[in-house]
Amino acid sequence: MNDYSSLLIDVEIYCKEHIIGRGIEYFNKQTVRKVEFSGHYIHANVSGSYASDYKVVIDVEDFTNSICSCPYDDYCKHIIAVIYTVQNYPQVEKEMDSEASIEQVELEELLLTQDKEYLIQLIYELVKNDDQKLQLLQKLHRNNK
Ligand SMILES: [Zn+2]
Repeated sequence: MNDYSSLLIDVEIYCKEHIIGRGIEYFNKQTVRKVEFSGHYIHANVSGSYASDYKVVIDVEDFTNSICSCPYDDYCKHIIAVIYTVQNYPQVEKEMDSEASIEQVELEELLLTQDKEYLIQLIYELVKNDDQKLQLLQKLHRNNK
């Protein structure tokens, strides 16, 4: 999975402070929609103050190539809002990442074809040294009663 924290550093370097503030406001208002990952580009729509959405393209490898369709001719709040959104919602990427979902399907198939004893052993091995997972199992057990 990609880590977009370097983009946050680019934002600090290239964007004006008050624009960063506006971008974070936009991120908090969840104005970013339709995030798509394609190669080292992130495409997203950001709803603006007016009716139409602005289209943002972020270049993950070179932030300075990032563009937005809004009239502001510097790195704008929409670009910043998209970067904060992908950085703070890594599950967005997970859903979009087709490779990850193929692996998940394979795992499901694999588990479905195993017998119960094997699965019990597997779960036991996975949780025995992990307090957090043990607690989760106990909680599930209590909820099932
Ligand atoms: Zn913009």
